[in-house]
Amino acid sequence: MANESKLQNIIGHCKEYGFVFQSSEIYDGLSAVYDYGQLGVELKRNIRDYWWKSMTQMQDNIVGLDAAIFMHPTVWKASGHVDNFSDPMIDNKDSQKRYRVDHLIEGYAETLDKEKGEAILAQMDQLLAANDFVGLKQLIDDYKISCGVSGTCNWTEVRQFNLMFSTEIGSVADEANVIYLRPETAQGIFVNFLNVQKSGRMKIPFGIAQTGKAFRNEIVARGFIFRMREFEQMEMQFFVKPGTQQEWYEHWKAARMKWHLSLGIPQDSYRFHDHVKLAHYADAACDIEYDFAGMGFKEVEGIHSRTDYDLKQHQQFSGKKLTYFDTDINQHYVPYVVETSIGLDRTVLMILSAAYKEEDLSAEGKEDSRVVLSLPPMLAPVKLAVLPLTKKDGLPEIAKELIDQCRPYFKCFYEEKDSIGKRYRRQDAIGTPFCITIDHQTKEDQTVTIRHRDSMTQERIALASVKDMVMDKIKMF
Ligand code: ATP
Repeated sequence: MANESKLQNIIGHCKEYGFVFQSSEIYDGLSAVYDYGQLGVELKRNIRDYWWKSMTQMQDNIVGLDAAIFMHPTVWKASGHVDNFSDPMIDNKDSQKRYRVDHLIEGYAETLDKEKGEAILAQMDQLLAANDFVGLKQLIDDYKISCGVSGTCNWTEVRQFNLMFSTEIGSVADEANVIYLRPETAQGIFVNFLNVQKSGRMKIPFGIAQTGKAFRNEIVARGFIFRMREFEQMEMQFFVKPGTQQEWYEHWKAARMKWHLSLGIPQDSYRFHDHVKLAHYADAACDIEYDFAGMGFKEVEGIHSRTDYDLKQHQQFSGKKLTYFDTDINQHYVPYVVETSIGLDRTVLMILSAAYKEEDLSAEGKEDSRVVLSLPPMLAPVKLAVLPLTKKDGLPEIAKELIDQCRPYFKCFYEEKDSIGKRYRRQDAIGTPFCITIDHQTKEDQTVTIRHRDSMTQERIALASVKDMVMDKIKMF
């Protein structure tokens, strides 16, 4: 299956089975905003839980936080977002389409042979690093890069465009009351650093983890839930003694890749992209890139050694001390921070990309196929489907009893309509790892058929062992 059509098929599948819907679809949708349906919400919650447990419960020295989306406006001055959280943009005067300059040039570079493409990208990187907007415009003109919609090169100048959404707090709509929807969750952690450290009696090195919504007015929002205007992040800031940040950066780089591989996704679907051009506050940074269906290798997570920049900025802007007293060395210092930052929605897309398969099952002249989501059982929205072979002879009662026994522990699904084969296919399509069929033999010997999603193999097991068997297969750790 071509990669591009695979993405389109995943998008169609997500809608058909209730994973992801376009926001406000009946009003023709809101661009780059999505809603999670009945199965998507479960998948997303399971991924969030797995990240949360991996980063808090399974660690000695990382605790959680749930900071508000709204923060004091000065937070975003201190963090640099008011002045710097912007992308250079250019508009095509004929189509009225606005582009991120780096995306426009990257798109053009992809159409060239490798060497030429790389040369243009190197030129672009230099100009971006120097904030040279005139040079960027010149580059676009020199290579006659055209708009994909109008086909013309009739461009405006390159301009900065801030990505933060703003709104007003309180009833008076004047400048002083402008606040922002947070564009990242990290700042909620920085401003609570001392609250958590003191109240939790945390000793450095320690971390604070948080999941939650973030908002960015992305200009070119493409790629389904890859780039959204409202999305969810899962971030962890790890506070360390100055001078030890490199060691912790390497630690988290390795630990986060190990987490990705624990999802059962093969190593060759991932790569690190080490940043050469670093943000002014960082002393090391890399992305974990995943080979997304239809898009190729793209960032799913960032690991950043952010120095003491953020805490020092908040110290300066708030006038409050944000130092830690290290009893091992009897010294006060502002800790350094290593951050891991992953997008939850991008992770959903990554997991769907890896799991979605269209299988040809034709045999002996009989055509057959199925769509299966080979999700890790711990992440599957529904863990167990219980299917009575017929609607009579007391089989539904046995099935419902089994569901009552299992449902406090994991999500079950009951269905008695259609042939068993059709029911299996529907469960394959939503990624249910186990189906139990209750048949007449169950009444005689208290056994059932369990059917495994990926191998499609079936075996007979004791009815009484079903719950524990599933519990064992879906456990996260
Ligand atoms: P990109 O270069 O793709 O815009 P970024 O480098 O700006 O991403 P970060 O600010 O490092 O991203 O955010 C951390 C993570 O949050 C990203 O790795 C990504 O998974 C997720 N993320 C960022 N922006 C979006 C978005 N608009 N939609 C969905 N997820 C996002």
